[in-house]
Amino acid sequence: MSTDKPGEHVGSVLQRKLSLVDMLDPGTFGDVVDSLGELYRVGIRVLDAQGRTLADAKGSNGDFCGFVTASGEGRSRCNAQVSRMTEGPLTPVQGAQVLPGPALLGGEVLSQPCFTGLRYVMMPVVWEGDVLGRVLFGPFAPEELKELPASLAEVVGVDLARASELVTHVRRMSEHKVSRMVVNFAQVMAALLAAGQKAYLTGQLHLEAMLETQRELETQNAQLLRLNQRLKEADRIKSSFLGTVSHELRTPLASIIGYSEMLSEGLVGGLNAEQTQFVRTIIDKGNTLLKLISSILDMSQIEAGKVRLAFEWVDVQELVESALTSVAPQAQRKGLVLKAEMPPVVQARVVADREKLRQVVVNLLANAVKFTPTGGRVDVRLSELGPQAELGASGYHIEVEDTGVGIPADQRDRIFQSFYQVDDSPTREYGGAGLGLAIVKSYVEGHGGQVSVTSEVGRGSCFRVVMPQEPPLSGQGPAYIPPPVDTEPERF
Ligand code: ADP
Repeated sequence: MSTDKPGEHVGSVLQRKLSLVDMLDPGTFGDVVDSLGELYRVGIRVLDAQGRTLADAKGSNGDFCGFVTASGEGRSRCNAQVSRMTEGPLTPVQGAQVLPGPALLGGEVLSQPCFTGLRYVMMPVVWEGDVLGRVLFGPFAPEELKELPASLAEVVGVDLARASELVTHVRRMSEHKVSRMVVNFAQVMAALLAAGQKAYLTGQLHLEAMLETQRELETQNAQLLRLNQRLKEADRIKSSFLGTVSHELRTPLASIIGYSEMLSEGLVGGLNAEQTQFVRTIIDKGNTLLKLISSILDMSQIEAGKVRLAFEWVDVQELVESALTSVAPQAQRKGLVLKAEMPPVVQARVVADREKLRQVVVNLLANAVKFTPTGGRVDVRLSELGPQAELGASGYHIEVEDTGVGIPADQRDRIFQSFYQVDDSPTREYGGAGLGLAIVKSYVEGHGGQVSVTSEVGRGSCFRVVMPQEPPLSGQGPAYIPPPVDTEPERF
C-alpha cells in the first residue's frame, strides 16, 4: 500500500513502480491461492520483492517434512533450503535448473531440488519489466524419485524406513504435470494482476485528481483571504479618511451657519427682503450639508467600531414626539399630513441610548417625508410594551409608514447597506448620501433590536423597528451597563 500522505505532492501514480500489495487484494488473493493449493495438493507460497509472504497454501508434505525437521540437523537444513528459495537469486544456481517451457509472467521458472529428494519450483513474478516477487510451489515428489537419498539417514539422522513410508503421502508429480500447474497458476495470477493494476490505477488517479482540486481550492482560498484583507484595509482607510475630512469640514461649516444666522437676525444691521432670502438659503443648504457630514462621520465611527451606546432610562413617547418636531417643518413645506399614534395606556420607560434612538426615528421620518410626494401622509406609531415575537422578549415597536414612492422588492435588503440608494443616477431627484438606513440598522442592532421594511412601489413603505425593553447584557451589541438603581423607571 502506498504511504504517500494526502496533500503531499509526489510523482503521478503512472510513473511509480507498483508493488504486488498495491495490485492484489490480500483477502481475495489468499483465497484463490488456498483453493489452487488444495486443487494441486501442493504447497504454494507467494512473496513480494521484499520477501514478505502474501499468500501461503499448505500442501500434502506436512507429515513428511514434520518428521524430517524433528531432528536438529533436519530443521537447520530445511531452514537453509527455504531461505535460499525465498531470498536467494532467481537464477539457476545451487542445483536449480530451468524448467523447460514458456517463460511465464516474464521470467524463467526454476526447478530446485531439496535435500530430502523432494523438489520445489520457483517462478518469478515479473510485471512490466519489474520483478515484483516470486511464487514457490512444493515440495512435491518428482515422478522419477524411487527411493530417498541415503544422506537423509547418514547426515540428517532420520529413520529412512519411516520417512519412505511418509513420503508416499506427498503429492507425486511428473514434469509435465508440474509445467501445467505452473502455467495454470501463472495465467490466474496474470489475470488478477491485470485487474488489480487497473483498479489500483483508477483509484489512485481519482485520488490524485481530487488532491489536485483540493490544492487548487487551497490556493484560491489563500488568494481570496489576501484579497479580503486588502479590501478590509482599503475599507478601513476609506472610513478613516471620511471621518477626518468630515470632522475638518464640520467646524468651518458650523461657523458659516452661525454667522449666517446672525446676519438673518439683523445682529449686524438690517437686511432687505432679497438679502434675507439669500441668507436663509445659505442657512438651509448649510444645514443640509451639516447633516450629510454628520452622517458620514457617524458611519465612519460605526465602521471603525468606535461607537459606544450610552444606555439610560428613556421615555420613548417623548422621544418620538421630539423626533416628529424636527421633521415637521419639511413635512409642512411639502404639504404632507404628519400623524403620530401613541399607546392609549401609560407607557413605561425603556433602556436605550437616547440620542441614537432619536436619530433612528428622525432618519426614518426624514426618509418618509423625503420620498412622499406633496399631498401624501406620514404616520408614526409607537406600540405598548409587551412581548415581541421577533425578539422573543418583552419590548416595543415603532412603525413609520408613508404613502410615498415605495421600494422595489429586490432593493429592500440592499437599502440598509451604506451608500446604497435605489436611484443612484447623477440626475436623481432626492438628495442624500445613502447612509441614513445603514446608521438606523447599526444603532437598532446595537440595542439588540431589528429593523425591517414592507413596501409597495407607488403606494408607500412601512419601516418597522422592534426593540427590547432592555438591551441584552451580552451579544453583538455594545456592552450594556444597567442604569443605577435609584433611577428605577417610574410609571407615568
Ligand atoms: P438616503 O435617504 O440618504 O439616500 P438612506 O440610507 O436613508 O439614504 O436610504 C437609502 C435608500 O433607500 C434611499 O436612497 C431610497 O432609495 C430608499 N428609501 C429609504 N427610505 C425610503 C422611503 N420611505 N420610501 C422610499 N424609498 C426609501
